[in-house]
Amino acid sequence: MRLRNIPGSREVIAENIWCVQAPETKKGCWQELFGNAHPIHIEIGMGKGQFLMELARRNPEINYVGIEKYSSVLLRALQKMEEAPLDNLRFIRMDAETITEVFAKDEVARIYLNFSDPWPKDRHAKRRLTSREFFARYDKFLQQDGQVEFKTDNVGLFDFSLEQVELAGWRVVDQTRDLHRDERMNQDNIMTEYEERFSALGNPIRKLIAMR
Ligand code: SAM
Repeated sequence: MRLRNIPGSREVIAENIWCVQAPETKKGCWQELFGNAHPIHIEIGMGKGQFLMELARRNPEINYVGIEKYSSVLLRALQKMEEAPLDNLRFIRMDAETITEVFAKDEVARIYLNFSDPWPKDRHAKRRLTSREFFARYDKFLQQDGQVEFKTDNVGLFDFSLEQVELAGWRVVDQTRDLHRDERMNQDNIMTEYEERFSALGNPIRKLIAMR
C-alpha cells in the first residue's frame, strides 16, 4: 500500500481540517471533537480509506477515526473527503505503536483491522497489529464489551492472530475462513481495497471477531 513518496503530502496533511494534529492532546476528548456523544469506532491501517468512508456514510450515528502510518497513503483519503465530506469521520497520521497516548480508557467501542501488514519475519511479530502486544494496547482504551474485527486473506497471519487472541486472554467470539461464502458473517460486509484485490484473485477472505 505504500505509495511512492508524494512530495508535499506531509504539508497537505498538516493543514487538512479532516486530519487531527497532535492527536495525543485529544485523549479523553474525542466526543467533544465530534461535538456529540456518539460511540467511537477506529480503523488502524486504513490505507486510502475506502472501507471507513463507506462505513461512516452508512452509520452517521457513529464517530469514526481512521489511523494510517504513511502520509502518501492518507493523502488519497483526504482527497476523497474533499469531494464528499463526512462529519462523523476524522483521520490521524501516526504509527499505532503509540496509540495508547491518543485514546483514554473506555474511549473506543470498536477496532477494525483490515489486511494488516503480515510482517513475515518472526523477529517482527510484535509489529503485527494482531499480536498480543497490540491486544495489550487495545485493552487500555477499548470498552469492556468492545470488539476487534480483523479481516485478511493471509492464512499464516490469521492462524497467528487466533493464537494471539487466546494468549492475550481475549476470546474469539466469531470467525470464518471464507467470509464471502458465509452468508451470516458477510451480511453488510464492506469490501476494503485489499479485499477487492485479493478476492478477485480467488483468495478466500478470513475474518475473526475478538472480545475480552
Ligand atoms: N486496510 C486497507 C485495506 O484493507 O485496503 C489497507 C491495507 S494495507 C496492506 C495496510 C495499511 O496499514 C498500510 O497502509 C500501512 O501503511 C498501514 N499500517 C501498517 N502498520 C501500521 C501502523 N503500525 N500504524 C498505522 N498504520 C499502519
